[in-house]
Amino acid sequence: MSFQNPVFIPGPTNMPEVLRKSISMPTLDHRSPLFGEILHPALAGVKKILKSESAEIFVFPSTGTGGWETALTNTLSKGDKVLVARNGMFSHRWIDMCNRHGLDVQVVEAAWGAGIPTDEYAEILIADKGHEIKAVLATHNETATGVKSDIAAVRAAMDGANHPAMLFVDGVSSIASMDFRMDEWGVDVAIAGSQKGFMLPAGLAIIGFSPKACAAIETADLPRTFFDIRDMRAGYANNAYPYTPAVGLLNGLKLATEMLLDEGLENVFARHHRIASGIRAAIEAWGLKLCAQSPELYSDSVSAIVTPEGFNATDIVTHAADKYGVAFGVGLGEVAGKVFRIGHLGSLTDVMALSGIATAEMCMVDLGLDVKLGSGVAAAQDYYRNNAVTNTRTMAW
Ligand SMILES: *Cc1c(COP(=O)(O)O)cnc(C)c1O
Repeated sequence: MSFQNPVFIPGPTNMPEVLRKSISMPTLDHRSPLFGEILHPALAGVKKILKSESAEIFVFPSTGTGGWETALTNTLSKGDKVLVARNGMFSHRWIDMCNRHGLDVQVVEAAWGAGIPTDEYAEILIADKGHEIKAVLATHNETATGVKSDIAAVRAAMDGANHPAMLFVDGVSSIASMDFRMDEWGVDVAIAGSQKGFMLPAGLAIIGFSPKACAAIETADLPRTFFDIRDMRAGYANNAYPYTPAVGLLNGLKLATEMLLDEGLENVFARHHRIASGIRAAIEAWGLKLCAQSPELYSDSVSAIVTPEGFNATDIVTHAADKYGVAFGVGLGEVAGKVFRIGHLGSLTDVMALSGIATAEMCMVDLGLDVKLGSGVAAAQDYYRNNAVTNTRTMAW
């Protein structure tokens, strides 16, 4: 691996220098107004990125997985029923967590490459006349398969059934890189992590709770201590945490939100879409297919690329690291060995993306795949030439 090359794993993502430096701080009193000057703007920035007026934001020293646990334990009781689709490794792991917490988990199985089957969700919700389902779980962007699901459609299925369940959305690999609308989609808990769209190291679980989700804590009886949002809320009111906060990371989060909002969220999403489209043009030129079954499912933050039958896709990832010092993502779970992934979220430019495409191409040719050197690069160059945007705000950082 070379520190000079960008990484193309779907998190942790490349860190802009200004963010990397912002994390490195002298020690300060984490129960002082000075800490409040870091904490409160960071929380306010996250709220804007979630596109929410009413959410309460909580940031735990943790990762996305801790965000899942925060959502479940603050709102649900042992034996509560939850509805969730399994269409990749991340939804699979969230389901596992629900089981371990003793929830009654209704799993809708879907192909790895398919989106959340919202029609099935609708049928199940309509049939649940007694409103036993307390929460509907949705993985917005399945990082394992490069599939983006339609959260507005999940909300529509819930509303169509007049169902009062809460909606929890894992947005770990979508928030801050793809369009996310907490209020408009009626999301009750939104979950992100610091190391993907926020361009920071791992270490923070970033979570939004709707007023309805906040109220649910009064009856929820799942055990919680570290992740209790009431303790966190009480801490925030005193410019503090219930324990020692990760001050440097929070300073990074404050700056990351400023950078994203300064570039403009819609510009951030457009940049991710443009970079992803160039990569997809390359994949098509290679004669390969995405794991995502249809274009409306294509993720703008990660592409999982299916390699020909009989070829071990993981070899590409190993070879890229060994020979060229570049990191791609391996296939996980059911698609292990069948796909390799190009992560294209966070701090990335068209030019950086071209280097990843060129490297993947060299690896595939080295390993004997029927891919023409330069084919993907040329297709992406064409796309980027014709869709270039000079975004002065991005460059300002
Ligand atoms: C990365 C990721 C997670 C897990 O986050 P950790 O920070 O590794 O705990 C959860 N869900 C999705 C969709 C992810 O991409």
